[in-house]
Amino acid sequence: MDFELSDEQALIRDTARAFTDREIVPRARENDRNEHFDTELVAKLADQGYLGAIVPVEHGGAGLDYRDYALVVEEVGRGCSAMRTVVSVQTSLVCSSLVRWGTHEQKQEILPRLCSGEWLGCFGLTEPDTGSDAANQKTRARKTDGGWVISGQKMWISLGNYAKVALVFAQTDPAKRHRGLACFLVPTDSAGFSSQEIHGKMGLRGSDTAALSLDDVEVGDEALLGEVGDGFKIAMSALDSGRYSVAAGCVGVCQGSLEASVAYAKEREQFGRPIGAFQLVQAMIAEQRVMTDAARLLVWRAGDLKDRGRPSTTETSIAKLYATEAAQSCAHLAIQDHGGSGYVDDHPVERYYRDVRVTTLYEGTSQIQKLIIGRAETGLNALVPDAPASAPDPVAAG
Ligand SMILES: Cc1cc2nc3c(=O)[nH]c(=O)nc-3n(C[C@H](O)[C@H](O)[C@H](O)COP(=O)(O)OP(=O)(O)OC[C@H]3O[C@@H](n4cnc5c(N)ncnc54)[C@H](O)[C@@H]3O)c2cc1C
Repeated sequence: MDFELSDEQALIRDTARAFTDREIVPRARENDRNEHFDTELVAKLADQGYLGAIVPVEHGGAGLDYRDYALVVEEVGRGCSAMRTVVSVQTSLVCSSLVRWGTHEQKQEILPRLCSGEWLGCFGLTEPDTGSDAANQKTRARKTDGGWVISGQKMWISLGNYAKVALVFAQTDPAKRHRGLACFLVPTDSAGFSSQEIHGKMGLRGSDTAALSLDDVEVGDEALLGEVGDGFKIAMSALDSGRYSVAAGCVGVCQGSLEASVAYAKEREQFGRPIGAFQLVQAMIAEQRVMTDAARLLVWRAGDLKDRGRPSTTETSIAKLYATEAAQSCAHLAIQDHGGSGYVDDHPVERYYRDVRVTTLYEGTSQIQKLIIGRAETGLNALVPDAPASAPDPVAAG
């Protein structure tokens, strides 16, 4: 694997960096303060091609590979994790599921609208009683003549109040457990579908988060994504891309923390010299640099495997686990480096610290990533207590 960026990759990164500094950074603090989901900025992300970054050009996407995608997501993540979440959900969770599992008609109808930003999509896996144990869906889908009736609740759904289409995971036959799961493309203006905003979040306050309710929502057979029984595989394949995207965004938080720390350490003086001249301050900066590099290289390795069509689930979990934890540590150190100034939102590090807290929770908690990695190392399944230790099915991991 070549660690040098090609001219084209450098251009993609520099373009994303300039876009982030010009459009995202100046709005991030106010959007955070006002809990404002900035649809104008979302439209700009779409105009840049970032909402369909890894979607093939023939479906309206930018046709980037995963290495390129990481460069874009890192820059957006450095600017604002709330906007990075929009990219991750729309591109990795929603679009990549359609690219992989959609029929020709589904792709033609929906993907160009998602890539252009005309529509937002959301990914409805988590429920009030179903998080890490994602196979245990309480939402039910009942077959009718020519379609399905879906009922249930979804919780913590990013973009759920703005989405035009929701990927909804539902159980068709509880006796079949995860093999009974199906995924539906549900228009959010369907009768019986409603959403409610979730407020009071610690971070990602500029991102939309919803509770969804489906009360006998009727959809046609054409709403089924994949086959009945594919639901769990669809969810896991989406998370494989989503976790990668979260990890790349967290590299951006690491990098942003480092850059802010260096700038402040050179400018702030104590004891008659810049604080950056003190060894203990340099130690904080060095720790951030090491974590940033390590996180980035783990992301690039996972991206390289994806681009070569090689299995990458374990390496993606490693990248997600490390990058999300590293981003928290970097933001923490960056606040320390800033002293009292780091405790208010004059500097981005305070927002980094709050925003990044969720990344070890969503798309599979750090504990779940460790269990995936541990299972790969040992061949033993510690995810589900009552499963046979050597169970091959990846029966968990929301
Ligand atoms: C801001 C935000 C946005 C989100 N966006 C989305 C979205 O767009 N779509 C979506 O579907 N979901 C979304 N989520 C939900 C998120 O994916 C879940 O919160 C996550 O999967 C964890 O589920 P849970 O909250 O139910 O926690 P639980 O599963 O109840 O876990 C609680 C604790 O128990 C631990 N735990 C659970 N099982 C095990 C085990 N087997 N071994 C060891 N430890 C275990 C967990 O690691 C955690 O520490 C979002 C969440 C937030 C906060």
